[in-house]
Amino acid sequence: MLDLLVIGAGLAGLQAAITAAQAGARVRLIAKGLSATHWAAGTVDVLGYAPAAEGAAPALVQRPLDAIAGVPAPHPYSLLGREGVASALDSFVALTHELGVPYEGSANGGNLLLPSPVGAPRPAFLAPRAQRGGDLSRPEPMLIVGFQGMRDFYPELIAANLNKQGFAARAAFLPLSLLNSQHDRNSVQLAHGLDNPRVTAKLAAELKRLLKPGERIGLPAILGLANHLGVLDDLRTQTGAVIFEIPTLPPSVPGIRLHAALRKHVEALGVRVEIGMEGIGFHAEGDAEGDAGNIQWVETSTSARPLKHRAAKYLLATGGILGGGFNSNHLGRVWEVIFDLPLTVPQQRHQWFQSQFLDPQGHPVFRGGVAVNGDWQPLKGDGTPVYRNLWAAGGLLAGGDYIQERSLEGVAIASGRAAATRLLQAA
Ligand SMILES: Cc1cc2nc3c(=O)[nH]c(=O)nc-3n(C[C@H](O)[C@H](O)[C@H](O)COP(=O)(O)OP(=O)(O)OC[C@H]3O[C@@H](n4cnc5c(N)ncnc54)[C@H](O)[C@@H]3O)c2cc1C
Repeated sequence: MLDLLVIGAGLAGLQAAITAAQAGARVRLIAKGLSATHWAAGTVDVLGYAPAAEGAAPALVQRPLDAIAGVPAPHPYSLLGREGVASALDSFVALTHELGVPYEGSANGGNLLLPSPVGAPRPAFLAPRAQRGGDLSRPEPMLIVGFQGMRDFYPELIAANLNKQGFAARAAFLPLSLLNSQHDRNSVQLAHGLDNPRVTAKLAAELKRLLKPGERIGLPAILGLANHLGVLDDLRTQTGAVIFEIPTLPPSVPGIRLHAALRKHVEALGVRVEIGMEGIGFHAEGDAEGDAGNIQWVETSTSARPLKHRAAKYLLATGGILGGGFNSNHLGRVWEVIFDLPLTVPQQRHQWFQSQFLDPQGHPVFRGGVAVNGDWQPLKGDGTPVYRNLWAAGGLLAGGDYIQERSLEGVAIASGRAAATRLLQAA
């Protein structure tokens, strides 16, 4: 019998599985598919913008850990507190260094300001080492280099937008054939190509030709997969310049590097990870009438046949609306797909959105989710746990507009760790 079944392979599910397996629990992790890591920038956003007061626009947060104390309930940060978030991030950083995908923050503990794929400054608390050199507080002017024919990366747009905001940047192009001889290439294939030191050396020689003294070089986030740190070091040594990656549109190479490293680590801890398993139902038994009781098994569909997964405890980390953990219909009903848990999401379509797309308050549909108690157990309307052996973490939690706040990775990592810690303590 398993001690824990984790459902969801995003940062929340992986962090929870790592925490529980490190404590000696027998854990399995199942997921319908890969996670938001493959879509997002690969940074760890903790709090980029403070939740807006009525009528006000969200304000840029300089020091997210200090701002956490002011985040009101029922936001998950109000359960975690500054210390809960800070210690989870400290152990995440230590783990990424151990796994060879190092994440780093700013020297003063504040948010970094990194160029987005369109050259907008975006706050992030931790970034992969390769993105940190793009911090806009650095003084060096930027040479943004793209590749002719590479989809969805426009150095001229990035440089122009950075210039408009007062950051010195210029654009240049290199031929795509420098990196790969195929005709139809996405960012993952280009990253694979750069793992080859001969390709990296050719690129370094061209970059050196373009570079002016004192500049740093921004490239699309394709600087290697298996040998990423080697590629970064080679380019730095061979050009003599600071090299940094700018995230591309999906698929996200930085996110894939992180996901692959965490998955390998959790498997090395003895956790079986099964992707392609969609949770579709469950069975629970209570001791008395009206008592929902304990979950006995979760059912998944696979291409071959349905399977039942039995465990003593279950942790749901299916990511809410963005991750696929919630579904909705044309009338506006929104439901949690495996356990049909109570949600705080408005259940009428006209209540989902504000009338203005860019309303500073955000949209109610993104703020709703699964309400939990201080032990991270999903709650019924009367405030008692829905099931005795169910816990929840990550983007499905109610209480914040995580995309607008730019807080989802911080919420996922810290709540995944906290929920796993609490469930291990439960009888
Ligand atoms: C395009 C995009 C851009 C983003 N940009 C930002 C950003 O700039 N800043 C920010 O803070 N956040 C951003 N996010 C959000 C953030 O990266 C993640 O949503 C966050 O890390 C939440 O992680 P999670 O583990 O809770 O869920 P997810 O990473 O969404 O993972 C959910 C997991 O559950 C699985 N799953 C879902 N339903 C089922 C089911 N029925 N059965 C089994 N498994 C299931 C999924 O396959 C997946 O493995 C972005 C997300 C997306 C999609």
